[in-house]
Amino acid sequence: MTTPITLHLPSAIEEALTIHCNRSGDTFEHVIFRALSDFLDLEHHSLYQISTSGALVEGVYQGCMRVREILKQGDFGLGTFHGLDGEGIMVDGACYQALSDGSVLPADPDYLTPFWVATHFKSDIEATFESVEDWSDLGRQLDRLRPSDNLFAAIRINGTFARVHYRVACKSEPGVDLVSATQHQAEYAFEGVEGTLVGFFTPDFANTINIPGYHLHFISRDRAHGGHVLDLKASNLEVAIDYENQLKLVLPETPSFLRADLSNDPRAALEKAESKR
Ligand SMILES: [Zn+2]
Repeated sequence: MTTPITLHLPSAIEEALTIHCNRSGDTFEHVIFRALSDFLDLEHHSLYQISTSGALVEGVYQGCMRVREILKQGDFGLGTFHGLDGEGIMVDGACYQALSDGSVLPADPDYLTPFWVATHFKSDIEATFESVEDWSDLGRQLDRLRPSDNLFAAIRINGTFARVHYRVACKSEPGVDLVSATQHQAEYAFEGVEGTLVGFFTPDFANTINIPGYHLHFISRDRAHGGHVLDLKASNLEVAIDYENQLKLVLPETPSFLRADLSNDPRAALEKAESKR
């Protein structure tokens, strides 16, 4: 929804705005929108991220930011908790912790996270997927909706899932690499469950920052079940995509992050740890 506003600008501001727009090719409307968003601390098309996929692969699970702080940075997103204690899902401004015993709790606002990605979700494109056969098919259909493989995207999908197969990471000792830690993950499969998929597309070039390709977490409508999606089958899914061309990356100052060797290419390990085996 948009609200038309009539503005009477002081001549000095109007002159500066005209000069800026002539020089940059920006529109008046866009500049005013950006200025208001900045003033109100509402970032659109921007991701806020704590730590990196490369650090997770190296076993950097020491929490560095509280859930209550992340909730100020977005209303939508995913992550994990201190010690890789389950899967995090943020939807409609609420944060949930899916635990390896299969339960889901509202995340404790004081709990710490070692890795999180958040945004203020606002859809740029909406579509209905009539039939989705499996994870790869979902990826192919999402690929056709996105304008470029070089932009990040937040993805929200609502519907009833004929089948959803997900995993929940088990709490791990610090320093155990992600591939080893997820050897012991809990896996669950449900049939005929209503819920939401929450997640992101990350360009391949950013694979040391975030998990390349699609990364989605599931939460059931009753908020009783959830986890990191490995596979699914569904029909009539409502899909919304929010392109993201800005990334604010906050790096932990925890000893485990500061000492980690992050020089390796994490691609193969991420593929192994985050996909169906
Ligand atoms: Zn995940």
